[in-house]
Amino acid sequence: MLSGDATALCSGALDGVSRHWRRIFAAVLDGRPLDRENAIALLERSDERLFCTLLSVASEIRVRAKGHVITYSPKVFLPVTNLCLDRCAYCTFRADVDDPHAWTMLPEEVRNVCEQGRRAGCTEALLCLGDKPERAFKAYRATLHVFGCRSTVDYLIHCSEVALSQELFPHTNAGLLSREDMEKLRPTNVSLGLMLENISPRLRRRGQVHAQAPDKDPQKRLAMIRQAGELRIPFTTGILLGIGETPAEVVDSVLAIRALHEQFGHVQEIIIQNFRAKPTTRMASAPEPSNVDTAKTIAVTRLLAPAMNIQAPPNLSPYDHRLLLRAGLNDWGGISPLTPDFVNPEAPWPHVAALASLCRDEGFALAPRLPIYPEYLLQPEFIHENLRRRLQKLQQPKGVPTC
Ligand code: SF4
Repeated sequence: MLSGDATALCSGALDGVSRHWRRIFAAVLDGRPLDRENAIALLERSDERLFCTLLSVASEIRVRAKGHVITYSPKVFLPVTNLCLDRCAYCTFRADVDDPHAWTMLPEEVRNVCEQGRRAGCTEALLCLGDKPERAFKAYRATLHVFGCRSTVDYLIHCSEVALSQELFPHTNAGLLSREDMEKLRPTNVSLGLMLENISPRLRRRGQVHAQAPDKDPQKRLAMIRQAGELRIPFTTGILLGIGETPAEVVDSVLAIRALHEQFGHVQEIIIQNFRAKPTTRMASAPEPSNVDTAKTIAVTRLLAPAMNIQAPPNLSPYDHRLLLRAGLNDWGGISPLTPDFVNPEAPWPHVAALASLCRDEGFALAPRLPIYPEYLLQPEFIHENLRRRLQKLQQPKGVPTC
């Protein structure tokens, strides 16, 4: 049975599509996830009626799984260093050590931003950095030495402790990490992240987007996500749309993430991030995914993984919040009142009040969450004992974190 208004919407929408799609959508609404072949077909088709139906079914499935609450995480963005071993074709964040815009945040800068974040009501400290900087740059290794740290992970632990001292909860995305690195970060980080981006090894070939990015090997990234599951670390991952992948590769990426989540229960969200073309990059003139492409991918992901949290960054689709909401997402990710998105500095965060108003118009309440999703707060094995008491202080009676 469909619920409330969605019944009329979905019934009406189902009437307008072929018998094949009526059968497929009815099965999904009956609790059976979409299969691979039909998921690919939905991404490939450009039939307007089918698109509307897909969205209304995805929206209904989202309400059944997640209710009428859309979440976001109030955060500060700490770009710990932009030095990076890799060279992805779309990236403006990375730098070589002698670039004028290369930086490594000083410990006092980290403290200063965290203090301001606490005062501004943030609860997440996002520690974001390039991949394996100490392997690539001798001067950076010397900087770590000056900080009294033997490795980037040591420095990240220090930064995380600073964040915790300011009542912010760290979430680190440091690129590809070893199992040992993740074990070291677990006592100070409530969650870790690594975008799968795409499962296709083809994207690492000569001329492709990840040709000069050894850490973007999908098998290495899947291995890290798997190890995070074995370590019981709540994990954020997702796909990057529009980097030369095919619809089949999008679907296979989502299915691979879902499979790891089914095994370990640790993937706290799937991010659907749309590629944005930036001047000065090798992909400056590459076509960006359309808003329909992004909405379709969110909706298909919802049908493939009905109960999972699905996020899209609101600053990368500033004119399409309503459309993406209707496509079935239930989270907007981190939004900062203080710091820019250093990976996409040209894309400002939306105003939370305006986003809340739009959500309300669509029948949803916008609510803050921690960088660990509420469902993990109820599962002690996913929280290191070092963090348990701090998190308990923030929990409301129903297990919903306050901001
Ligand atoms: S996207 Fe990440 S891994 Fe790729 S070059 Fe930029 S900072 Fe490095």
